[in-house]
Amino acid sequence: MLKKTRQNKNVPELRQDLVTGEWVAIAEKRVERPQEFVKRDAELLNTSFKKCPFETSPQASAKEKPVLLYKNKNETDWTLQIVLNLYPVFTHTGQCKDIFQVGPYFAIEGAGLHEIVITRDHKRHLALMSNGEVTEVVRAYHQRYNEIKNDECVKYVSIFHNHGPEAGASISHPHSQIVATPVVPSDVHRSLEGSKSYEDKNKKCVHCIIIGWEKEDKKRILFENDSFIAFVPFVSRVNFEIQIFPKEHRSNFEETPKEQFSQLADVLRKSLRVLYDTLDNPSYNFFIHTAPADHGEHKHYHWHIEIFPKTNTWGGIELGTGMEVLMISPENAAKYLKKHI
Ligand SMILES: [Zn+2]
Ligand SMILES: [Zn+2]
Ligand SMILES: [Zn+2]
Repeated sequence: MLKKTRQNKNVPELRQDLVTGEWVAIAEKRVERPQEFVKRDAELLNTSFKKCPFETSPQASAKEKPVLLYKNKNETDWTLQIVLNLYPVFTHTGQCKDIFQVGPYFAIEGAGLHEIVITRDHKRHLALMSNGEVTEVVRAYHQRYNEIKNDECVKYVSIFHNHGPEAGASISHPHSQIVATPVVPSDVHRSLEGSKSYEDKNKKCVHCIIIGWEKEDKKRILFENDSFIAFVPFVSRVNFEIQIFPKEHRSNFEETPKEQFSQLADVLRKSLRVLYDTLDNPSYNFFIHTAPADHGEHKHYHWHIEIFPKTNTWGGIELGTGMEVLMISPENAAKYLKKHI
């Protein structure tokens, strides 16, 4: 049932493109951050230790208590915490929202969650952490994902990490983000549909086929252990892109067995480290693509992580055609990265 108007003007809004079906989020409160008004530059975003909002006690650095806290003996000796984002794109409203109409358009209130996963050290980012520390990050992603996915209003849970000013990290202290959305985002929807139609046609998971081909061809594989594999994809979208897959077909990230956390941390950490060593600490984004939390049938999907170093700037050709232009072939990118392994 479509409602004619929205109910809560303080909550961010999602609007759907009439032509492509893509959703965009409008979160005006986020521009209160002073950094947003001025030119982004590395100096400005290099938050000093003294000014870092994450350095105070977990209770003081957020409006509310952390939603998750890993600590040693006492509260102040924390190693990782998850807090609500003070500048959320999606806010918890306590009730599910309906899509409403504005003229010919569809929109929905941005009901959901937006949380920040903070590791203790101000400077040491994932590439420089020990495997044990990255395993703790994986454990936190997993634990929080499983808590959030049961919310009936949540359709998708996105876990991502921005590193460096060019990747949109507005605070230099290492942190990841968890966003729960009331709709399945367009990119995820496309990925689900594409892999479904491949499977319908070929009776096999497209990602299992890709992993099989990479193992056979060997040219683009960077890291591999019993449970996970990392490679530069044959069809990369940016220079030095890396994708990580569980070798066993699994649709949902949250079903990763606990015994495999350290193996996932191993390939993730090594992938970020080789980018750090080879490309001199580039800005990057990585995110988890997993089956939606919408209780639908997504067994064909194969969850994975995509790492995008910020090596391209979109020019007219990319914006006008949507076709990315790579300056190095995936084979040569892998060869180059492997020199630093
Ligand atoms: Zn800090
Ligand atoms: Zn598969
Ligand atoms: Zn993906």
